[in-house]
Amino acid sequence: MGFVSHLQCVVCGATTAAPESAGTCGSCADSSATLEVCYDMTRVANSMTPAALAGRPADQWRYRELLPVGPDDPNHHWPVGCTPIIPTPRLAGWAGVERLRLEDEGRHPTASFKDRASSVGVLHALRAGATRIACASTGNAASSLAGFAAMAGLPATIFVPQRAPAPKLAQLLIFGADLRRVLGTYDQAYEMCNQACAEHGWYNRNCAINPYLIEGKKTCGLEIAEQTATNLPDWVVVSVGDGCTVAAIAKGLLEMQELGFIAKAPKVLGIQAAGADALVRAFTDGTPGPLGAGTLADSIDVAVPRNWRKAVQRIRQTAGAMLTVTDQEITEAMRASGSLAGVFAEPAAAAAIAGVRRAASAGLIAADADVLAVVTGSGLKDTETATRIAGSPTDVEIR
Ligand SMILES: *Cc1c(COP(=O)(O)O)cnc(C)c1O
Ligand SMILES: [Zn+2]
Repeated sequence: MGFVSHLQCVVCGATTAAPESAGTCGSCADSSATLEVCYDMTRVANSMTPAALAGRPADQWRYRELLPVGPDDPNHHWPVGCTPIIPTPRLAGWAGVERLRLEDEGRHPTASFKDRASSVGVLHALRAGATRIACASTGNAASSLAGFAAMAGLPATIFVPQRAPAPKLAQLLIFGADLRRVLGTYDQAYEMCNQACAEHGWYNRNCAINPYLIEGKKTCGLEIAEQTATNLPDWVVVSVGDGCTVAAIAKGLLEMQELGFIAKAPKVLGIQAAGADALVRAFTDGTPGPLGAGTLADSIDVAVPRNWRKAVQRIRQTAGAMLTVTDQEITEAMRASGSLAGVFAEPAAAAAIAGVRRAASAGLIAADADVLAVVTGSGLKDTETATRIAGSPTDVEIR
């Protein structure tokens, strides 16, 4: 598998040879003992040079040495990655920082950050000879997986919680997925998916269990490092549910530091909603929980974070931090990023922008700081919430 050297447990550090698909650590009887994909970094450095990158297309496959893909994988035309990084001076003023850039992940084929992982997941499933791929998701991973499965011609079964927003379900159904709406929470949908995969032998795309998917998400960090190498942000701000996204972006930044593309990785700031802050508690207290009251930001409405260890470890490695924001702050950030920057963020994505403002007012981020916030999903994913926040049009009588 290309440049992958081995897998390593995040709890006990045990290493195993990289199989085609893997769950949690075989030595630890602990469901939080997820595995990390490790590379032969000397070989990577010799192959993924700045000169080599300069000649490659602007998509995530340009970092193939740092992805668990093989040279023969027929994937390289799927349009993923290299989303725009947009300077937003007026929004910076609102947030109270010197400079704010937004990386707009809503411009992906299925309009969320999850495309970075689904592309790798579908590829892996094809290579493993899977006949069906499955995942549980609050919505975005689901519609993303369904989209890439459709591109690849691979059947997909998707488990969503009862309250997944209608536009995400519409996307899923149009992509032809077998959609199972679990009449319960995301956490219950997640368990049902894992059971079904074990029972039927389906390929399990769930990011927390499958160490390869986080590698796709990591390309966001690789890109930020490559594209901003000459004017690196001080902070990279990311919203957090299960913790895979923030851990992955930090991993990408740290790998680019190890390879010498950047001198030092920016600090990573993870943002959770006040009503779903189990991972912030893991960061401050060492263990996740207790259950919160929930949040309107459906994509980060996670009661039991599955990848909290990776998230805590990676944020610490960047000397970063975590914070919570209220639903009120999230909706204010949605309005602000739309009206001051022209970027339509779904609530979970706006949480990162709200987090910038909160961190600046708390003095965690200095007023002269340079900040990059990752807008993880498009506002068109949840038009009902957006409409509620933004108000209604002015009706005009025909005269
Ligand atoms: C999935 C998702 C997140 C959080 O990712 P985790 O890996 O669960 O922490 C944030 N924002 C959006 C829009 C998402 O879809
Ligand atoms: Zn272990």
